[in-house]
Amino acid sequence: MSQSDLIVLDQVNKRFGDHHVLRDVNLTVRQGEVVVIIGPSGAGKSTLCRAINRLETIDSGTITLDGTPLPSEGRELARLRAEVGMVFQSFNLFAHKTVLDNVVLGQVHVLKRPREQAVRKARELLDRVGIGAQADKLPAQLSGGQQQRVAIARALAMDPKAILFDEPTSALDPEMVNEVLDVMTTLAREGMTMVVVTHEMGFARRAADRVVFMAEGEIVEQGAPSAFFGAPSSDRAQSFLAKIL
Ligand code: ADP
Ligand code: MG
Repeated sequence: MSQSDLIVLDQVNKRFGDHHVLRDVNLTVRQGEVVVIIGPSGAGKSTLCRAINRLETIDSGTITLDGTPLPSEGRELARLRAEVGMVFQSFNLFAHKTVLDNVVLGQVHVLKRPREQAVRKARELLDRVGIGAQADKLPAQLSGGQQQRVAIARALAMDPKAILFDEPTSALDPEMVNEVLDVMTTLAREGMTMVVVTHEMGFARRAADRVVFMAEGEIVEQGAPSAFFGAPSSDRAQSFLAKIL
């Protein structure tokens, strides 16, 4: 393992009953790398993301975060989990808190930051994702694209070592997809370590350092976007791409 390896999955297996959803998954994400995961529905992409954050347990194998193996529970797990942000398809904002509070609360409760400092940071981040003017509204008063940008600001507020995005634009109306992808592209260029599950192949070509293709719980192939999209080597990747491109 090299020092710049931030997330390392080694022979990870996960079953739901008889259903083997992650099969001997090996994946290394280096510091500053942007890894885009693609593949058909049911491939195990969400389970993989959730396992990295221990929102899902695994049956065997190890997941290491910045050199520390993830424990299955306890205080240390909570600390390590806070080091990896997560952005979901469904935003998952607190509906009854203002946009500002959504970005403040984790900083205060998990990182024990003084509220004033947390508010300052939240305002800065909301400006950065282009919604500073909406800070005092409730999430429901914002468009889907704006809500997803709040979720990204909330993840950034925790100073994460990496952010996982699980189909962040899949629930959005088409005209709002780009405003979210633009924020993500900027983050990628700024050097944020990112794992992104998406069907947005334009984003993958533009922002990914590496594309990982999953099917039936396995990483079938991976490579630089130009190589992968130019000439996928497996039948399964070829037929997947033929359907979506
Ligand atoms: P993807 O995100 O690639 O569409 P998922 O990781 O969501 O795939 O799911 C992989 C497989 O695991 C699917 O067949 C799904 O039905 C199954 N699965 C996911 N979560 C659960 C669960 N909590 N209980 C049982 N089966 C699940
Ligand atoms: Mg999924």
